[in-house]
Amino acid sequence: MIEIKDLHKKFGKQEVLKGVNISVEQGKIYAVLGPNGSGKTTIIKTILGMVIKDKGSISVNGIDIEKNASYRNDIDYLPQIANFPGNLKVHELIKMIKDIRGNDADETPLIELFGLQPFLKKKLNNLSGGTKQKVNLVLTFMFDSPIVILDEPTSGLDPVAMLHLKNLIRETKAKGKLILITSHIISFVEEMADEIIFLLEGTIYYKGTLEGLNEKTEETSLERAMAKLLTANKSVA
Ligand code: ADP
Repeated sequence: MIEIKDLHKKFGKQEVLKGVNISVEQGKIYAVLGPNGSGKTTIIKTILGMVIKDKGSISVNGIDIEKNASYRNDIDYLPQIANFPGNLKVHELIKMIKDIRGNDADETPLIELFGLQPFLKKKLNNLSGGTKQKVNLVLTFMFDSPIVILDEPTSGLDPVAMLHLKNLIRETKAKGKLILITSHIISFVEEMADEIIFLLEGTIYYKGTLEGLNEKTEETSLERAMAKLLTANKSVA
């Protein structure tokens, strides 16, 4: 479980988070939505300790993240842009990440799932964007941690890889894990998310089911509901 209370963050004079309150629990898939620049990645990076908050508190499974950094071992994170050293080969990168985490993960089933065997001895610089993303997904899912955070996981994936990703996420949920996703792909969110967390002007505008959001906006789909919210808030869109 992750609990965020009254989270504030400024970058220079720009107030990105203005008192964010979110509580998310195990066994559910949450989609964090909002216009570009609304602070989705900043929230995720703050949970991970990669961005330092100005005010507020975050606890993971009841422990304040400022008091103990060991909670990070319980989180698997897929970054939006993974800047891995381009000269490393795929198998070297996998080994390096395993060594850093000190964890005996078994990546073989994931490598087979995404068809990455032919790429293991290739340098990361020579891979296409979609293949890099598959490698990124292997690195994220191989550790089997109770919390999984995915920043734009569908980026560059072909339809087959997309199906595999959806199945992986469903299996992850079935294990009782907490999954937090940011995505711009509306159909993906509609299909996968149990709850939507909608961020506008640095605060949470809505948290709840898709049906609830449709009711609140008097719309019939996530696409239309989001369009309505964004048109009503042109200043942030
Ligand atoms: P989102 O993920 O919703 O697109 P971000 O959290 O990445 O939004 O960014 C929110 C705002 O904060 C943007 O205007 C972005 O330019 C700014 N921002 C994010 N990180 C930094 C940083 N390290 N330094 C300065 N500004 C930043």
